[in-house]
Formats: sequence, C-alpha cells, structure tokens
Amino acid sequence: MAAIELKGLTKVYPGGVKALDSLDLSIPDGEFFALLGPSGCGKTTLLRTIAGLETATGGNVVIGDRDVTGVQPGGRDIAMVFQDYALFPHMDVTENISYPLRIKKVAKAQRQAKAGEVGARLGLEQLMDRRPGQLSGGQQQRVALARVMATQAKAFLFDEPLSNLDARLRLEARTFLKKLQRELGVTTVFVTHDQAEALAMADRMAVMEAGHIRQIGTPSEVFQRPANTFVASFIGSTPMNLLDAVVRGDTLEVAGCEVPVPALAAGLLTDGEKIVYGVRPEYMTYTDEPADGSLSGEVIIVENLGASHLVTLEVAGVLVQAVVPEGREPALGDRGHAVPRGDRALAYRDGELVSA
Ligand code: ADP
Ligand code: MG
Repeated sequence: MAAIELKGLTKVYPGGVKALDSLDLSIPDGEFFALLGPSGCGKTTLLRTIAGLETATGGNVVIGDRDVTGVQPGGRDIAMVFQDYALFPHMDVTENISYPLRIKKVAKAQRQAKAGEVGARLGLEQLMDRRPGQLSGGQQQRVALARVMATQAKAFLFDEPLSNLDARLRLEARTFLKKLQRELGVTTVFVTHDQAEALAMADRMAVMEAGHIRQIGTPSEVFQRPANTFVASFIGSTPMNLLDAVVRGDTLEVAGCEVPVPALAAGLLTDGEKIVYGVRPEYMTYTDEPADGSLSGEVIIVENLGASHLVTLEVAGVLVQAVVPEGREPALGDRGHAVPRGDRALAYRDGELVSA
C-alpha cells in the first residue's frame, strides 16, 4: 500500500493534444479517490500515466517513497482494471484471476490457491471453471476485480469499471466495491463520468475539465460548495440553478425578484456588481403562498423523481427549479414561490465561488 503523488504531470499526445496540463495531486495511503469529469477531459490518460502505460511529457509520478516516472508498468506494483475488463476468453476464471501471478512466475499450486481464495471472497466459488463467455456482465466484472486483487498491488486504478453494467447491478457493485476497498485498505483511484457514483464512493474526489483539475475535496465539499460554475453545473442529480443577479445592498436582484445575499458571500460583494447566483433545487423550499425572499413565477414543468418532484418555475423569463416533497407538488399553470436556503445559496464572480 502506498500514497500516490503527481507533480506537474503533463501529457501531450503526438499531434499536439494536451490531455494533462501540469497537474498536481496528492492521494494519501489507503484513500478511495474518485476522478470525475466529462468525456475527453483526460481521466483515462491520467490513470494510464500513473500506471506507466503512457509516458509523461513532463512532471513526476511518485508511488510510496519511490519516483517511478521512468519505470516500466511492470515495475510499478500497480494494478489497473479497464472499462471492458479485458478478460482472456479462452481461459477459465481460475486462469484469468491467476494470470498476473503466472507472469510473475509464481508456482501453479500457489497460483490456484490464491485464485481460489480471492474468488471466494468475491462470491465466485461456483464459477471458477467457467470461461468469460459463460458469465454475466456483473460476474465478469468481479473476475476482473479478483484478478487485480490477486496481484497484491500497492494501488488499484479503476477506469470506469461499472459503466458496462445495467443500472441495478451497477448500484450493487458500487456498494460491494466500496466495502471491499475498505477491508483491503489499498489506495484506489476510481475514474468515472458519473457524478452520483463519485459522490457515493469517494473519500475525496477531483473534478477535471480539459486536462485541468477544477476542484479537489470531499463529496460534501464538492456538492455543497462547488468552487466554480463548471463544477456547480457538473455535480448534482438535478442541475444547480445558476441565475444572473445584480447586487443591491444586502439583497440580490434575480429575475425581477429580491433574495438575500448568500451567507457565504456576506460582506464580499460590491453594490451594483453583476454575479451569478447559485442554489440547488434541493435547497429551495416551495410554497404556494407568497413569501419574502422568494423567486415567484408560473409552474411550467413538474417532473416525477420518485419520492419527490422537480418543479420548474418561469420567473420573468428565467427558469428556476425546486425539489418538492411527495404530495406537495403543484399543478401546471399554478403560481408558485421558491425560497432559497440562505446558508446553501452561493455567489459566483467571473465563474469562481465567492467566499472568505
Ligand atoms: P477521458 O478518459 O476523460 O474521456 P482521455 O484521457 O481518453 O479522456 O482523452 C483525453 C484527450 O486526449 C482527448 O482529447 C482525447 O481525444 C485525447 N487522446 C486520448 N488518447 C489519445 C491518443 N492515443 N492519441 C492522441 N490523442 C489522444
Ligand atoms: Mg476514458
């Protein structure tokens, strides 16, 4: 087990695409770290560069107390699981799991014992003689995990390992993988483009955009205080309301309504300044009675979220969303009022969070 430290890591592909731009990142020993970002932002490149499958154009990769920047993948003691699992179709489960040990010239009896032990831990006992073609997607995914675990690496790298599973299995695998990582205590970098997955699984997480890290923090920090409007709009199962606003003393003018200045930005805004006002639909209280400091307008969409509804109001031509508990949802065409929670509302100046 080991910490991972990246210093000024840069990767420029032949042809000139800068996939990683002088990236700094420090992941302590034993942490479950999620790397989140849209397709093409550099997540796979980052993992492959840590693993040594890509050569860094600049900067350093340190694993434990060893600088491995120039070291071949096999010498880094790191195990990586790919999105498509990359199982060998002609090998059974035991052979697939023990393959890395065969490469390391571990004796056959020992390899099989290890494969059996790890397979049992992942609930594969009954399937050890099957080939990948005879397994479900979820079972294949567990074999890929078992293969990684059998290697006893210092760190695990996962590249969207759940993205080929159906929604239900994916939720199960998420809990299972998280529990396993806890038990093993191996430093893990988990790449996903699914913000819910990152929030649910990570001890800490980074949000990437175009080769840069835009925020690092715990899931709560990233969810409640997105550092910029990119992260704000990327995180959350319903998108954050990001509304143009003008500062008027202690209040903000938003879509012709008056709301209090967010607590986090108190004393930091200038009268007359233009900002972006951010508040999550979950942090809005919806009422059908007029209320102070509310955004008021006509209900134009009501979406069922299961235990709640997402209500969209049109406020002077601007769309504002609020999550409304089950049984309290309005009808289309109603006049409604969304009261933002002052302690959860945010102000963004030039795209960056305003806070002390
Ligand atoms: P992600 O995993 O976040 O989707 P990638 O790391 O795969 O992103 O890609 C980051 C950027 O680098 C993209 O613009 C992609 O097109 C480019 N890229 C990835 N691999 C190569 C390659 N082998 N050669 C050239 N460009 C590449
Ligand atoms: Mg990728």
